[in-house]
Amino acid sequence: MTPDKPADLVLTGGPIATMDAVRSWATALAVRGGRIVAVGPDAAVAAHIGQTTRVIELRGRMVTPGFGDAHVHPVHGGLARLRCELHESRGLDTYLEIVEAYARANPDVAWIHGGGWSMDDFPGGVPSRRDLDRVSPDRPVFLASRDGHSAWVNTKALEIAGITARTVDPVDGRFDRESDGSPGGGVQEGAQSIIEQFLPDTTAEELEAALALAQTYLHSLGITTWQDAIVRPEEEERAYLALAGRDELTAKVVGALWWERDRGVEQIDELVDRRAATAIGRYRPTSVKLMMDGVLENFTGTMLEPYLDASGKATGNRGISMIEPSVLGAALPRLDALGFQAHFHAIGDRAVRESLDAVAAARRANGPSDTRPHISHIQVIHPDDIGRFRELGVVANAQPYWAAHEDQMDHLTIPFLGPERASWQYPFRSLLDAGAMLAMGSDWSVSTPDPLAEMELAVNRVADYDRGRPRPAFLPEQRIGLLDALAAFTMGTAYVNHQEQDTGSIEVGKAADLAVLDRDLFDRTAGAIGETRCVATFVDGVAVYEDAALDG
Ligand SMILES: [Zn+2]
Repeated sequence: MTPDKPADLVLTGGPIATMDAVRSWATALAVRGGRIVAVGPDAAVAAHIGQTTRVIELRGRMVTPGFGDAHVHPVHGGLARLRCELHESRGLDTYLEIVEAYARANPDVAWIHGGGWSMDDFPGGVPSRRDLDRVSPDRPVFLASRDGHSAWVNTKALEIAGITARTVDPVDGRFDRESDGSPGGGVQEGAQSIIEQFLPDTTAEELEAALALAQTYLHSLGITTWQDAIVRPEEEERAYLALAGRDELTAKVVGALWWERDRGVEQIDELVDRRAATAIGRYRPTSVKLMMDGVLENFTGTMLEPYLDASGKATGNRGISMIEPSVLGAALPRLDALGFQAHFHAIGDRAVRESLDAVAAARRANGPSDTRPHISHIQVIHPDDIGRFRELGVVANAQPYWAAHEDQMDHLTIPFLGPERASWQYPFRSLLDAGAMLAMGSDWSVSTPDPLAEMELAVNRVADYDRGRPRPAFLPEQRIGLLDALAAFTMGTAYVNHQEQDTGSIEVGKAADLAVLDRDLFDRTAGAIGETRCVATFVDGVAVYEDAALDG
């Protein structure tokens, strides 16, 4: 039977991972008016081809649903790429080459501002102002480290900020010093803000340009939907409203509105107003971000039992609850009753438990709801809490790129947790086995936003940059299968974003949100999972990224 109207687009002749409920496979699909109108074998879909149909011969290239990122900071990542960007480079010489080239290409910027350097590229983790002085003697330089906990500045920046040998360190940070006490160029934690106040303010134009750049980049990786993990009124929100207002937001975005930790439940009315006033186009601010703790490497992750010291003895420090449990216990039932989703940041086992306890309080107050609370990062989960994810309907929002032996894990985390708690990290297999729903994301710009690189880590638990090196897999019993990882990056994220009726799988009636990959992801002779490249991305049937070779 021939359909009434020809399809706009047909993809044929390649494996299609539909990610429907039985995870069925097809070889062809047809799209009309932005929706999928047929999925099946080539012969069955061929009837949809008419004179006006664009036909893409896959020739073995694989199609998956467009990827979702359940926890990402695109404006921040885009700003990093607009500025002096070091995230994807390694080594002092390379950093200096990039700074020099950036300075030459941007003669009019007052400050050379950027970041992404890694501590392991410097002796003792501490960079020197003198290296930067060689490439920028006259203009101030401020470069944040990859994790944002420190900065690298030149002499000019220190002069402008008035930092000298006599400057006293602030209570929440430190200036690294040379032997005579003069500032050396490394700036730790809260001391950064003393210099940052001299940086020019980020303009609305920069925020918009950053989001547009990030969107282009994320589309090039096959990403069609995401949850922005921190939306603040004067920053990310402005960028989304501008792009969505001009109909230039091609990604489908849920915004997680930032919960101000120094305020209480009185801020909920403002969140309700912002949700109503700022939902435009493909942007929906229906989530609230609750940052429960810090990170383990500097002992600000919140733990049930104290951290150990370097000799393995218990300290008095269990981290601090960044949101008072009593405030959280009052806020969560109200947010849930108002239809807000809770998006928790929880790294330590106590932060995870306090998040689950808050959801339990909301369930007791309101009964079951469809707000789909989720906990991101989930680095350490006490075994007693694994089953509670399913019981409470809490989605596990994992960042698999961190589940590997690397220097930060081996030297700054495992020794201070001790062997038992170190084995509770990133328990993705245990969560799935306990029936938990799993979504995945990158936390870009902290880590690469490439979902394929992240899936490789979820499957192997060996860092992709360590391929071929003899580092063991990290807790290999917590590896998950590639189909489960792909589901977490497609239907899992669609579910978290309340979009599973529209996207997340390739089924008739759903939006044609698609990623075309350069090879069959499941062909294990085709190289590492993370070496796979996206060659085209479609949102609602429209190409938002396309490699020149697609039709070839
Ligand atoms: Zn984040």
